[in-house]
Amino acid sequence: MSAAREKLKSARRIVVKVGTSTLSYGECGKFKLNLYRIEHLVRELVDLHNAGKEIILVSSGAIAAGIGKMGLSEKPQTIPENQALAAIGQGVLMHIYEKFFAEYGQTMAQLLLTKDNTVDEHARENSRNSLMSLLQMDVIPVINENDAVATDEIRIGDNDNLSAMVAEMIDAEVLIILTDIDGLYSGNPKIDSSAKLIHEVAEITSEIEKIAGGAGTKLGTGGMFTKIQAAKIAVQHGITMIIVNGQEIGNLRRVLNGEEIGTVFV
Ligand code: GLU
Repeated sequence: MSAAREKLKSARRIVVKVGTSTLSYGECGKFKLNLYRIEHLVRELVDLHNAGKEIILVSSGAIAAGIGKMGLSEKPQTIPENQALAAIGQGVLMHIYEKFFAEYGQTMAQLLLTKDNTVDEHARENSRNSLMSLLQMDVIPVINENDAVATDEIRIGDNDNLSAMVAEMIDAEVLIILTDIDGLYSGNPKIDSSAKLIHEVAEITSEIEKIAGGAGTKLGTGGMFTKIQAAKIAVQHGITMIIVNGQEIGNLRRVLNGEEIGTVFV
């Protein structure tokens, strides 16, 4: 087993990021939340917490939950409409998380951050203090960007980067990014059947950046590009990051058992 996989096994403070495509049924399901996946995710997180890990969840899905709640058929074009939907959906999302966490007797807390909270020194210290207190209280923080009020200047824009900033801020050892694909491929597996899953990235070269160039799904903002940006932040700070398929139940545990799945950034 590689040293990076060993590190995943022994990690104590772990940030898990989950994307919209994993949390919702998307267009074909009228953007309703995928309760099956959310429930299993929460159960795994609580179990890891019970096993002595410190868990921080960065969750997208607010805008999708807002679209689903309002019965719209697609994501609106304008920023104010999306901000409004984020405000509507964030509550819906937290309600579901709270319900599932409560079923397993676990207290959670919501934190909505903007770029200021992770970059500005004073605000960053405050965010860190708040997160550290929550961890000390055995609470699982659930973080999203404060989309409803984040204007251009203070927007991070995607939760991949936000999760890496959070991991760095609280000295996490590992960042796990749950997404809708098995990891980083040598090409686009949707159009290139010879594309191979890259198990380990020792260095983020321009070649790696090039193959990650494409955009994400219709609903999520990320795609591989922002995941590579996040990986850069993570590895720079000695955090092991892994991209893994969040649509298969149990993958979180497999990763932390050191199984050779997903793409790990050393
Ligand atoms: N913050 C957005 C949401 O909760 C998602 C951002 C992202 O997809 O990275 O809907």
